[in-house]
Amino acid sequence: MARVGIPRALAYYTYFPVWKAFLEGIGASVVLSRPTTRQILDRGVEDAVTDACVPIKIIHGHVADLIGKVDYLFVPRLVSVRDRLVFCPKFLGLPDMIRYSITNLPQLIDIRVDLRKGRLELWRIACRVGRILGAGLPRTAKAYWAARSAWKELQARLQARQTAPEAFAEMCGVKTGAEKAAQTGPKSLRFAVLGYPYAIHDPYVSGNLVARLQSLGVEVVTADMLPRQILRQQSKHVRKQLFWTYSDEALRAGYYFYEHGGVDGVIHITAFSCGPDAVVDKLLELEAKRRGTIPFISLMIDEHTGDAGIATRLEAFSDMVRRRKERRRVS
Ligand code: SF4
Repeated sequence: MARVGIPRALAYYTYFPVWKAFLEGIGASVVLSRPTTRQILDRGVEDAVTDACVPIKIIHGHVADLIGKVDYLFVPRLVSVRDRLVFCPKFLGLPDMIRYSITNLPQLIDIRVDLRKGRLELWRIACRVGRILGAGLPRTAKAYWAARSAWKELQARLQARQTAPEAFAEMCGVKTGAEKAAQTGPKSLRFAVLGYPYAIHDPYVSGNLVARLQSLGVEVVTADMLPRQILRQQSKHVRKQLFWTYSDEALRAGYYFYEHGGVDGVIHITAFSCGPDAVVDKLLELEAKRRGTIPFISLMIDEHTGDAGIATRLEAFSDMVRRRKERRRVS
């Protein structure tokens, strides 16, 4: 049975249950890299080009973590999966960056994913991966439908307010590496946490942000919990249309929350050295100021982000929002 490695980084945080359902369906054994550690990050910093953003450095570390443990590495070249939006150029060049930065790699499955090519493109991609791993057509078809069901189940779980790692844990038994939230009772605040899923949900990189907020009595909602049609409807409010998939999602979710409320605060997680993020962050901040209804904070992550700095800012922000809410309740 072929062992296929999936690096626990970038699009893993969006698609893992789907990829796993498909790859196992065609008879592969899926091997996941370990949760991010200092050692994995340091290895990524060593291997990646110096001006790369921290998520790109991290995936290099995760790829290195899988060397010697797998026969193939699953690193699809994600181009476009929705509407006319595209992934940022670093996603487009990811397989090449990995190939030229890391030695002794197993064979890369770097299939190009560009769903602008039509409704059958996803099926064609499935057939190509099936051929690489030696699966026949009937088996590939079965795996394809299993992957589609996994996607539907994942969306239902997210819309029921499970975070992506919580959904992955229940669907695939993945341990997140996050500390468990100390406070599991009812939450008195709700924050929208916007940004790339791979920055928010990697507990090492984000300073365990989601669990920390939960332990402060905050319910966390993220852009991927909003149904797609709700995000699409924000076109009439969004002042600048973006080209990039994840950035567009974060911006639309921010506008939705500013427009409809339902959250007590908005936190934007940005990645150092990320071009698209600089635009999104400014637009979210300007819109928060223009409306003046929901407090906004922006937190930047890089390879030196320390737990303590994140913890202090989250505590201060939660206290401020809680006091503000209390004042409004009594006045
Ligand atoms: S969107 Fe930004 S953080 Fe994500 S890979 Fe591209 S440059 Fe890096």
